[in-house]
Amino acid sequence: MTKPRLQRLMGVGVATALIACVATAALVCAWQLRVYTQREEALAQFGHFSTSIELMGATSSERGQSVLAMTLQGDDERLLGELAATRSRMEILWSELLAVTEEERERSPILQDDVDAFRKILADGRARVDDLLSLPPEKRPPAEVERSIRTIYAAANQARTLRDDLGEILIGLTPDLTPFMTAAMAASDLREYAGRIRSLVAIRLNAGGTPSTAAAAEFASMLALTDLLQQQIEHYATPFIADPVIDRAMTAVTFSYFAGARAYAETVFAAPVVDPAISVESFNRRYSPAVRTTEALRDAILEVARDRLASERDRSLRFAVASLLSAVIGTVVGVTSLVVFDRGVFRPLLQARARMARILAGDLDAAAGRISAPFREMTDLERDIEKLRRQQIELKRLEDEREVMARELRRLATTDPLTGLMNRRAFETEVAGLFAEPAAWGAGLGIVMIDIDHFKSINDRFGHAVGDAILKEFGRFLLRAAPTGSRVARFGGEEFVLALADMARDELYARIEGLRLRLAGTVLLDEPSLSVTASFGVHWVPAGGRLDWDAFHRVADAHLYQAKRNGRNRVAWSA
Ligand code: GH3
Ligand code: MG
Ligand code: MG
Repeated sequence: MTKPRLQRLMGVGVATALIACVATAALVCAWQLRVYTQREEALAQFGHFSTSIELMGATSSERGQSVLAMTLQGDDERLLGELAATRSRMEILWSELLAVTEEERERSPILQDDVDAFRKILADGRARVDDLLSLPPEKRPPAEVERSIRTIYAAANQARTLRDDLGEILIGLTPDLTPFMTAAMAASDLREYAGRIRSLVAIRLNAGGTPSTAAAAEFASMLALTDLLQQQIEHYATPFIADPVIDRAMTAVTFSYFAGARAYAETVFAAPVVDPAISVESFNRRYSPAVRTTEALRDAILEVARDRLASERDRSLRFAVASLLSAVIGTVVGVTSLVVFDRGVFRPLLQARARMARILAGDLDAAAGRISAPFREMTDLERDIEKLRRQQIELKRLEDEREVMARELRRLATTDPLTGLMNRRAFETEVAGLFAEPAAWGAGLGIVMIDIDHFKSINDRFGHAVGDAILKEFGRFLLRAAPTGSRVARFGGEEFVLALADMARDELYARIEGLRLRLAGTVLLDEPSLSVTASFGVHWVPAGGRLDWDAFHRVADAHLYQAKRNGRNRVAWSA
């Protein structure tokens, strides 16, 4: 079965839509997967960057603890334990950083140099600190203490260089992270300088006396740097990041660090004479908690950045999956609609059309079919066609019946019911045909009117039923005995008629005379003293004669009358 044009069009439409849908989904999916891998990579890089910042922070902490340990008046076991713990945390961070940056370090000699330099400077600083710590507190020269502190500054600077180089790789990979990274770097620098301010105050407290101009200048530059860093963080964080967690952390830094701890450090540092009531330890107790707010700010920025990267990564994966899913759904819907339309509409439609064609062709039995369409509209159509088919069957049955009845009517209209012969009307129609074609008369056309003699008395003597039986037998006799080719009819009552074409006049007369004689010698009905004779009036015309039936009949009838008048049981004809 060829598919309907509509179905082919629909197939082309659905296929086009499907190709477009799948192609778009594939493009979106590929694009989003690329974004996903980029973000995944950026997250890994971000981890390295964060580790370097942590390393920088840990360096600051180690320095702070080292300063405290070196400047205490007595040995504090707890502090030494903390210093050891910080160092071992540094080691863990260190090996972590070495492991994750292996590839980058292979690619970038600068990074490898950063790593090597940091390690070297830190080892140097630690050696100095350890040397000093091995001396009793009063034997530690403040100048040496300061030098060792400055070596660890240098280590922290080196950690910062390492951080910046890692940050550069990350910015190259994800430029939109720039505000986060700049803010995070500034926050980690702020943490570093807050630590240095603490160290400068500790050196000042340790050395006593009046601060030198150089020390005062360094302190002032630290203050200016921290102000600058605060502005930098605000500059990036407020408009570009706009995250409430970071905003809260910034507020904490402003109040707790800048307005609180740093102002206190300024006062302590700027005092012309060191207040004996203030020790490194007591200063530290007031100053250090506020430094932690800068760490919290730094960590908050890192956390928010990581969350954003992760959520962007997850979103791109969701987009990729959603586009794939939409392609799958589109394909399923498209293919299903094709199948549903094929099974539910087009196939039933073609079947319905085929059935209609069979019904129109009158092949009603072959048009029978099961109702199988899945949709109501099509089932209704099939049911209607079935109804139509049944109506057609009924119509055909009625038509057949009518045909039979018409045949019967025709038969009844042309047949005499008693004898089964043609009746007068049929006979007249028959001879009208003959009269219309005189050329077909051949040797001549004869009409013979026949009337049973004294039939009334037969009825009277033997009863009407016997009369009927005689009429019947008489008809049979005529059919049997009339010359071959005769058209025989009952003309009415006990009167019969013969029409005979293609017979010469004398032969006709002889034959009819023979018929009369034969009747007289025939026992029609086995009844005692019942003999039947008849009178015959014959009229004959040669071929080509022009007469109408009425005139013809009149003449034959006149001859019959003549035969009756002459005494019955005889044939009368034109002389
Ligand atoms: P004729 O020799 O002069 O012809 O005399 P007839 O008695 O035969 O003629 P008539 O015309 O006087 O009578 C005809 C009768 O035929 C009258 C009628 O009752 C009878 N007849 C006509 N049709 C039928 C029929 O169908 N059955 C019977 N049983 N009788 C019939
Ligand atoms: Mg009569
Ligand atoms: Mg009669």
